[in-house]
Amino acid sequence: MTNKLTIKILVLDDEPFALKLTSRMLANLGYNSVTLCDNGRAALEQVDSAEHRPDMILLDLNMPEMDGIEFVRHLVERRYTGSIILLSGEDEHMLQAAENLVHTHKIKVPGSLQKPVTPEKLAALLEKWVPSPQAGAAEAVKIHGADELRAAIANGELVNYYQPKVEPATGWVMGVETLVRWRHPTDGMVYPCEFISLAETHGLIDELTRVVLTGALAQAKIWYEAGLSLQLAVNVSIDNLASPDFADFVAGLAAGAGVPPQKVVLEVSESRIPMDDLRAPLETLTRLRMKRFRLSIDEFGTGRSSLTQLRGIPFDELKIDQSFVHGAWSNKTVQAKYDASLAIARQLDMEVVAVGVEDENDWDNLRRTGCDLAQGYYIAKPMPAADLPGWIQTWQARMKE
Ligand code: C2E
Ligand code: MG
Repeated sequence: MTNKLTIKILVLDDEPFALKLTSRMLANLGYNSVTLCDNGRAALEQVDSAEHRPDMILLDLNMPEMDGIEFVRHLVERRYTGSIILLSGEDEHMLQAAENLVHTHKIKVPGSLQKPVTPEKLAALLEKWVPSPQAGAAEAVKIHGADELRAAIANGELVNYYQPKVEPATGWVMGVETLVRWRHPTDGMVYPCEFISLAETHGLIDELTRVVLTGALAQAKIWYEAGLSLQLAVNVSIDNLASPDFADFVAGLAAGAGVPPQKVVLEVSESRIPMDDLRAPLETLTRLRMKRFRLSIDEFGTGRSSLTQLRGIPFDELKIDQSFVHGAWSNKTVQAKYDASLAIARQLDMEVVAVGVEDENDWDNLRRTGCDLAQGYYIAKPMPAADLPGWIQTWQARMKE
């Protein structure tokens, strides 16, 4: 039996009437810790607060600003450990597809409900709720503040890790992606999902990206001098592209390190590409492309860019988001999304990288579908620079077997 008094429920729906109806139903069913939100931003504030973080979210899929799918993406970034019940006026098929998608993010979905919701069906799903074993752990994650991050950047506490990108057809190690970590003096390793948005909202992302890029290009120079001619990818935030000297800064660093621009890839997350005013990022992207740097659209499938919009930005590479790669072979909906991403990349003449290759089945799926490049735990986890030459030897031996 669910402990109705302890479960914190958040209802997110843009329609005031639906919100009212659901909240009345919940009250009648005996659930009294309920928060109502009519937009995604407000709901994320609740998720971010240690005190109000919900155990269960009743999520409407169709909302005008941030829709349910985008909201889930934000939950993943925040390592949400609770459950989600999906609500929608859409048909069964659509709800099933959305449910699959949430599952791929490893978020628990007791089920979904077609609107209008009935108290019986809602009660049955809520009864399935069990406290998350990780809930305590999530609360234990320390929330770091902007001042602490600012000091960490200045004190050199950020370190670059590198994750290999390999060619599934041959096993050739073509390059690495730079992934930043914060080696915290007392809290251990802190991952980017806990501090990149903090840096973005507090005006620290320019400094952060410059530190990451400087370190990565210095490292590339060392690998070059040791005879390892790897392609180097770095993640950039959309905010970086708004700064007018960014393209010159990158070009200066690459020239200083003696690394040809063709060997440097700048990755921009699809979900962050603005739908409306593209002018500032587009100018920087075009200038970078003219200087022969490679541009990559990252986490593809998580945003909503149209073909026309993609055609308008000179991307060279498309990275299929890990939620459409791992386990695709066993799930028709996920495989369809993977296939569609691959087809879009082919149509736009971009190289395709699949991220999130976690096991042999994923790897075989890439080989079967002719994906250009692979990245994931099956190949290697992100590692410190010093470990890379040793890993390459082990990998080459593994490929020979
Ligand atoms: P991303 O660019 O999509 O990077 C891939 C993320 O997936 C990395 O997480 C990587 O460790 C993880 N990953 C790779 N293979 C697998 C796999 O097989 N299974 C699973 N479950 N995960 C896999 P990480 O390092 O935590 O980085 C998260 C995100 O933070 C990155 O996603 C990127 O968007 C952002 N990020 C990292 N470094 C930087 C940076 O220097 N600047 C900016 N702006 N963002 C960064
Ligand atoms: Mg990336």
